[in-house]
Amino acid sequence: MEYEDFYRRSIDEPELFWLEQAQRIHWKTPPRVILDQSTPPFRRWFVGGTTNLCYNAVDRHLAERAEQLALVAFSTETGVTREVSYRELYGEVNTFAAVLVSLGVGKGDRVVIYLPNIAEAVFAMLACARIGAIHSVVFGGFAAHNLALRIDDAKPVLLIATDAGMRGGKVLPYKPLVDAALSESSYPPRHVLMVDRGLDASMARSEGRDLDYAELRARHAGIEVPVTWLESNEPSYLLYTSGTTGKPKGIQRDVGGYAVAMAMSTRMIFDIAPGQVMFSTSDVGWAVGHSYNVYGPLIGGATSLLYEGLPTRPDPGIWWQLCQRYGVHTMFSSPTAMRVLKKQDTSWLSASDLSSLKWLFLAGEPLDEPTAHWLTDGLGVPVIDNYWQTETGWPAITLMPGLDLKPLKFGSPGLPSPGYRMKIIDEHSGIEQPSHQKGVLVFEPPLPPGCLTTVWRDDARYVSSYFSHFNELLYSSLDWAIRDDDGYITILGRTDDVINVAGHRLGTREIEESIATHNAVAEAAVVGVYDALKGQVPVVFATLKQDAAEDHRVVAQAMQQCVIDRLGAIAKPAQVYIVNALPKTRSGKLLRRSLQALIQQADPGDLSTLDDPGALDEVRRALERGPDQ
Ligand code: AMP
Repeated sequence: MEYEDFYRRSIDEPELFWLEQAQRIHWKTPPRVILDQSTPPFRRWFVGGTTNLCYNAVDRHLAERAEQLALVAFSTETGVTREVSYRELYGEVNTFAAVLVSLGVGKGDRVVIYLPNIAEAVFAMLACARIGAIHSVVFGGFAAHNLALRIDDAKPVLLIATDAGMRGGKVLPYKPLVDAALSESSYPPRHVLMVDRGLDASMARSEGRDLDYAELRARHAGIEVPVTWLESNEPSYLLYTSGTTGKPKGIQRDVGGYAVAMAMSTRMIFDIAPGQVMFSTSDVGWAVGHSYNVYGPLIGGATSLLYEGLPTRPDPGIWWQLCQRYGVHTMFSSPTAMRVLKKQDTSWLSASDLSSLKWLFLAGEPLDEPTAHWLTDGLGVPVIDNYWQTETGWPAITLMPGLDLKPLKFGSPGLPSPGYRMKIIDEHSGIEQPSHQKGVLVFEPPLPPGCLTTVWRDDARYVSSYFSHFNELLYSSLDWAIRDDDGYITILGRTDDVINVAGHRLGTREIEESIATHNAVAEAAVVGVYDALKGQVPVVFATLKQDAAEDHRVVAQAMQQCVIDRLGAIAKPAQVYIVNALPKTRSGKLLRRSLQALIQQADPGDLSTLDDPGALDEVRRALERGPDQ
């Protein structure tokens, strides 16, 4: 079938279309109603159907592919490779589930998972799914405050953590961050289940609270835990993402709709058939990691390759060597990672036998043409840009080589995915823009299966964050976009104060709040500034308190450290400028866009509302002087 027909059916006859797609997964009880949209902007897919993500990802494959590899967890940091067949995966997940049950974890309980890209992260997620517990994976690179915020919102009964991760050969202890997060948290869970990797011998244990997974695993080996069948719309997991406030949003996913979206997209978008190998370089802590390191390939009966380490270590050919070694069919990575590799000798691209590799998908941030061309020429396979958000859970704009590959157009992620009714509208009038005119990208409900169902325990925030910009019946992506005459969409950046660093979303508010914890700081404004490698990096403009007599260099460095300590190294400001005043409107709103324009030597835009013109000169002088850190 051609893309046009497939897409058209998904829009014209959504219930029939998704009923057909729902046949890709196992239902304990078939759904009664395919789509319930009686309470917009909420919608429920596959109402009354019962199923289970773990059953679909593991048990269902035992009859046909028990000895096939399900998961390869490859670490160039520790030198450990784990090759796990579906039979072994079944055993590990059941044991993990038995441990969870023994600790009193049950259906609907939240479990926070704070682990690096190791096999246990996958076992833990699937074990939660098996017993109907709701997992909330927190990216291992996030620091204590970020972890504490997520713990306080999810109120977990258990935290699963590790002694340490490793990056570039350096041990990064996790446990001190866990301890700091739990002492900051208002709702610390009773137990911390420690997956001890033996990396940090100095690790401190808290008697009674910290439990050793290896010990409990040995005690529960061989136990089989029955699957808990869940109604399609019950929550499966939470994944927190940044918004414009300092408080991250708990994106909530369902069970049935997500399983169907994973089965469909893995096959039709990523072109992965059962038995084939998918290599996503993402961390399990991100949306891509959830969908295409864990649920997508496993529900699809494929092999998932999980990687811990840098793309350049032991050498910049490591990812291509893995493609050769495991016969990877589809690879999924980010433009930033590819730009890192592009700085290396191009011969690494041709040093491995890549005859099995059919597609390289890249997502998370705009893909620049030089990188796309470099990869296409060097690898000889199509490079497919695809656009999505943590909220969508799977690509919203892409091409679909599993169905029929439409022509690639560099600069555009492609065409709307099945079920996404997209419009580009004028930000003020809400009227649809003609082609080639910039506007806000919106989706008309119902959102397709797999997308968020709400914000955890905060329906009002779901509505106010996504459905209140134009009217209650339009989901705002908060991205600018433009469409060409063939319907291809190009993304032009965020409409809000969210920045995208190396493909990861960071709220400028969160960074500002971290900087404000320094007692010399009066106020801080953070903007995202173009960076050739990471796409964007955070840059700080800050004023100091009147009596702060600190050395600017010292205080600027301390501000960077505040961000690293609270949020993680990923959010570290690239530059800090200390100024005497920040540009604000007469009503006191920070003119972040003007700051961003000034640093990029662009037009600062409409300044008619500027309160103190001297503040802009102040910023200009600071930029001439150079950063303070
Ligand atoms: P996250 O939820 O962290 O994945 O961030 C989602 C945001 O990343 C989107 O709203 C876009 O701003 C940006 N994004 C994701 N994929 C792309 C892409 N292929 N091209 C341009 N921007 C993208």
